[in-house]
Amino acid sequence: MGLIGCHISIAGGVEKSPGRAERFDCEAMQIFSANQIQWNTKPVSKQQRDIFLSELKKHKIQKVVVHHNYLTNLGGVEPEKLEKSRKSFLDELIRSDFLEIPYIVFHPGSHLGQGEDSCLKQIAENLDRAIEAKGDLKATLLLENTAGQGSNVGYRFEHLQKIIEFCSYPEKLGVCFDTCHAFVAGYDLRSKKAYFDTFKKFDDIIGLDRLKVFHLNDSKNPLNSRKDRHDNIGKGYIGAEPFIRLMNDDRFADCPMLLETPNGDEYFAAEILLLKNSVKS
Ligand SMILES: [Zn+2]
Ligand SMILES: [Zn+2]
Repeated sequence: MGLIGCHISIAGGVEKSPGRAERFDCEAMQIFSANQIQWNTKPVSKQQRDIFLSELKKHKIQKVVVHHNYLTNLGGVEPEKLEKSRKSFLDELIRSDFLEIPYIVFHPGSHLGQGEDSCLKQIAENLDRAIEAKGDLKATLLLENTAGQGSNVGYRFEHLQKIIEFCSYPEKLGVCFDTCHAFVAGYDLRSKKAYFDTFKKFDDIIGLDRLKVFHLNDSKNPLNSRKDRHDNIGKGYIGAEPFIRLMNDDRFADCPMLLETPNGDEYFAAEILLLKNSVKS
């Protein structure tokens, strides 16, 4: 079984998050390390960092994943926005290493009309630039597969593979697999055969060794609809079965399995219990 957890709020400071995660019985958690809808961020103090690290131990959170903000687009070309994106991404790398967080999840980017191929190259170039500017990066950067809304890239496994191939530091890159995004992008998971076919494809194109984190979300929209709306586990078009299969898939035993389902405060505890109970010993 993976390390089960969910997305946790950092309201009041990042050091408050591990205590919140314990309420849901999390083994792993995901946070935004700063306000996800603002460019400017307050730095985390050394004191906050020390409290954060001791709280993680106290509440037995084994792995933390940072989700980068939604504003950054490493695939865009508009100069002002690109400058802000580069700065905010570099800030994230610095902050996450400071907080000793091993994984940074981010959405690859949007081409906004310039075409997918040049966008994928541009993302890889901006990753090179950030990794070089940071120097001695400890965290692994995880490209999240996307639903393929608008001009977002990253909805085909081939997109993620190309970014990794174009990047000069492939050893710093991995993938976060979002079940809802994969499903609405056309990768079926529902039957046993569909599940194994999808991960076979992933393995052939990217390699399962790159898959480090899962986002466990059911989907409010059908297969191949390219619409990103998460649903609670077992309530959407995917259904509970693929999630139970994931929980029992030895290949993913070390991966954080993180819920980003709606109305978390109300449902996370029950969903986490359901997932834990589905593990066959
Ligand atoms: Zn996600
Ligand atoms: Zn989503």
